[in-house]
Amino acid sequence: MAGLNVILLGPPGAGKGTQAERIRRDYGLAHISTGDMLRDAVAKGTELGAKAKGFMDAGDLVPDEVVIGIVVERLREPDTASGFLLDGFPRSLVQAGELDKALAAAGKQVTLALAITVPEDELVGRLTGRRLCRDCQKPYHTIFSPPRQEGVCDECGGDIYQRSDDSEETVRNRLAVYRAQTEPLIGYYRDGGVLAEIDGVGHPDEVYGRIRESLDRAQHQVGG
Ligand code: AMP
Repeated sequence: MAGLNVILLGPPGAGKGTQAERIRRDYGLAHISTGDMLRDAVAKGTELGAKAKGFMDAGDLVPDEVVIGIVVERLREPDTASGFLLDGFPRSLVQAGELDKALAAAGKQVTLALAITVPEDELVGRLTGRRLCRDCQKPYHTIFSPPRQEGVCDECGGDIYQRSDDSEETVRNRLAVYRAQTEPLIGYYRDGGVLAEIDGVGHPDEVYGRIRESLDRAQHQVGG
C-alpha cells in the first residue's frame, strides 16, 4: 500500500499538535514535529539545542540550514516508509523546495497538505492559555480544557507547564512570522494540487472529522 505523505500547515495555535496525535493514532503515520525535536534538543542541551534556543525564545524561525538537515535525516528512518505526517515543517518556501528535492530523490512526494485555518484574534487566546504535559505532551487550556487537578496531567500524572514562547509578546511575533514566511506555502501546495483547507474553528473532534474526510479521500487516491 502506498503511504500517505502528509504536511500539516497552519498558524501557531491552529491545533496542529492536537490533530497530529489523532492522525498518528488512526492512520499509523510517523509523526515528525520539528518543534518537538528542537524543544527536546534544547532540554537536553545538545549542540542543535544551543543553535536553536535564541530563535525559539524570540518566536523567530530557526535557520533553514539547521532545520532542513534534521528533517531530511529523520525522513530516512524506516518508520517513514509507510507514510509520515510533518507537523511544523516546512515553514518557508525554501524549506518546501528542499523537502520536495529530498522526497524526489527517494522516489516520493507530498500526497496531501492540510492547511488548518483559524481567525487571528482566536489564536492569541488559544496560545496564551495553552498548557502542556511535560512528559506526554498532552495539550490543555486554562479555560477550555483544564486538567482535573491543577498542574497534573490527567493521562500520565506528569507535570503541566507553559511553553516559554507562549507569552503574549512572543505569540504576536510568531503570528507575524507565520504570515510573512509560512502562509505563502498555502499557494505553493494549492498550485501543486495537493492542498486541502480545513476550517479549524470548533471542537477538536469536529475539526478532526473534517481532516478525516480529506485523509480518507487522499488514501483512496493513493490506493490504500
Ligand atoms: P512549534 O512547536 O511548531 O510551534 O515550533 C516552535 C518553534 O520552533 C518555532 O517558533 C521556531 O522557532 C522553531 N521551529 C519549529 N519548526 C521550525 C521550522 N520548520 N523552521 C524553523 N524554525 C522552526
